[in-house]
Amino acid sequence: MASISLDLLQKYSVPGPRYTSYPTAPYFHTGFGEADWRRALAEAAPDRGLSLYAHIPFCDSLCYYCGCNMVATRDYGKTVPYLAALDREMATAAAQIDPARVVRQLHWGGGTPTYLNPDDIRRLMAMMRTHFMLADDAEISCEVDPRELTFEHLAALRETGFNRVSFGVQDMDPDVQQAVNRIQSEFLIRQVLDWSRELGFSSINLDLIVGLPKQTVDSFRRTLERVSVWAPDRLAVFAYAHVPWMKKHQSLINEADLPDPATRLALQQSVNDMLGAAGYVNIGLDHFARPEDELVRAQQNKTLWRNFQGYTTHKDCDILAFGASSISQTADVYMQNDKKLKSYQARVAATGFAVERGLRLTQDDRIRRDAITRVMCDLELDFVAFGREWDITFADYFADALADLRPLAADGLVEIAPDRVQVTASGRLFLRNIGMCFDRYLKEAASEQPRYSRTA
Ligand code: SF4
Repeated sequence: MASISLDLLQKYSVPGPRYTSYPTAPYFHTGFGEADWRRALAEAAPDRGLSLYAHIPFCDSLCYYCGCNMVATRDYGKTVPYLAALDREMATAAAQIDPARVVRQLHWGGGTPTYLNPDDIRRLMAMMRTHFMLADDAEISCEVDPRELTFEHLAALRETGFNRVSFGVQDMDPDVQQAVNRIQSEFLIRQVLDWSRELGFSSINLDLIVGLPKQTVDSFRRTLERVSVWAPDRLAVFAYAHVPWMKKHQSLINEADLPDPATRLALQQSVNDMLGAAGYVNIGLDHFARPEDELVRAQQNKTLWRNFQGYTTHKDCDILAFGASSISQTADVYMQNDKKLKSYQARVAATGFAVERGLRLTQDDRIRRDAITRVMCDLELDFVAFGREWDITFADYFADALADLRPLAADGLVEIAPDRVQVTASGRLFLRNIGMCFDRYLKEAASEQPRYSRTA
């Protein structure tokens, strides 16, 4: 990573979206209802692949940094009505679409999907296979919490077809783990990695977080050293978003323990330096992969895409997401389910769906989404090719964005040529700020309260 000054970091550390969607989730509205969602499913092109997502919201305990929609409970009985609701919701969605549509990607997230016991892992996967047709080479992945995990959980995942696992490691330092209420030993991580390799998962991802309380550059470098030895196929290194006004439990974190901006910058630089030295390629905002990984190849071929699950190679799939709070996506519609467990279940029991809000994209939304995605994925935007694809004159259509990009060019974050804009090495840390130049909603809402975490 190019050397970034603290002044630059502070100048560009502003509230901003992560652009896993555009328009972003705060702009989904309740005027979009169940009839709209049924219509969107019925209208979807039959040749588009499917990407299925199941949200399992349960966790054994609460990590104080958590930004997910989750329920901490020791009452396993809560899974019974929830699995029944997932089954009903999947059946309802499947009935709306062409049965010949093929699932290319399937993902379980949470919460903690492995909160489910091995028998229920088998049961849920059997439901999904009953309602949908999975391709033989489908990418099937699960987020896994190493704590409370047994070999039998992983064996059940593997047996039912999962070929990828993603472990939440976050930080290995005991003081940091204590400060965020997530204690997991090195032995534990080593063991779950050994089990996964023994069971033959083809890809192992580890999640880390920078910006956690008590994190120091030295302590995090030790975490990075260990992680490099464990040699996962991919790493996702997220920046902790401290938003206690949105996630009340984050106020359990002592703000005085959070790393200051200079430390956050040094942490980020350590991540890039050490993972780079360990042979990983940085993909866009927060992902790292080995040079031969398909995400790296997709970035080189300009076929990488970004959605609610982060970076993906499955641009042309509709996402059908099931469970409380989950977000589905067709070519021009986003839909989010009811976020509360009880009302999600009650609504699915009543009608088969639990649509809380959504949005149908306008043509302008689609054009701007593509521009933001190209910047976040390709790190450049070719005005001529883009203009041809959308039948626009780029310089006219995006006169506002180009004007907003000029100060970023002056600060060395992008280079603007007559035919393209290119993200520089320094600009990679500020991809969200660069994307924001293309965001019409953000400009219109400039006077409102912040809806997002800080960009850097
Ligand atoms: S395990 Fe994951 S979802 Fe559950 S509380 Fe911790 S961070 Fe949140």
